[in-house]
Amino acid sequence: MEKDPTQPNTSETKRRISVPEYAMALAHVASLRSEDPFRQVGAVALDHSNRVIGTAYNGLAPGFDAPDGFWDDRDARRRFMLHAEVNLCSLFTRGSARVVAITTMPCTSCMQMLCAYSVEEIYFRDDYAASEADQIAELYGVRLQQITDYPYISELPIVH
Ligand SMILES: [Zn+2]
Repeated sequence: MEKDPTQPNTSETKRRISVPEYAMALAHVASLRSEDPFRQVGAVALDHSNRVIGTAYNGLAPGFDAPDGFWDDRDARRRFMLHAEVNLCSLFTRGSARVVAITTMPCTSCMQMLCAYSVEEIYFRDDYAASEADQIAELYGVRLQQITDYPYISELPIVH
């Protein structure tokens, strides 16, 4: 039987946090850094040794300071927001990230991008109904799995 990577290693007496749980907890912390008042999304990438490549969150282009009133109109600013996955993929080259965890299911465009970067496993917490990520994952053979419970989730504020 194939081992479920979301489950912790039960052969040890001490409970060890699984790699997907580890990644999701890190993505959750990253989401707390987003300055978007409407939706805060965090993401993390792990390499083939499960080492952290980097964390990212949704926001404006690096170095850009939002003018007064920028955050007031959600629809007007939406086109300018860089998704957490876009910022994350700016940190590595294709094939170097094996696992990506995001607090929200990737949108269709970001899912396509993660496939272009050859990410093998993608974990998310919150559903995103408009996304076609599940169909894209199925076609390309990418693991796309929801994780709603992980260590420290109850101790961190949940932001959406
Ligand atoms: Zn996106």
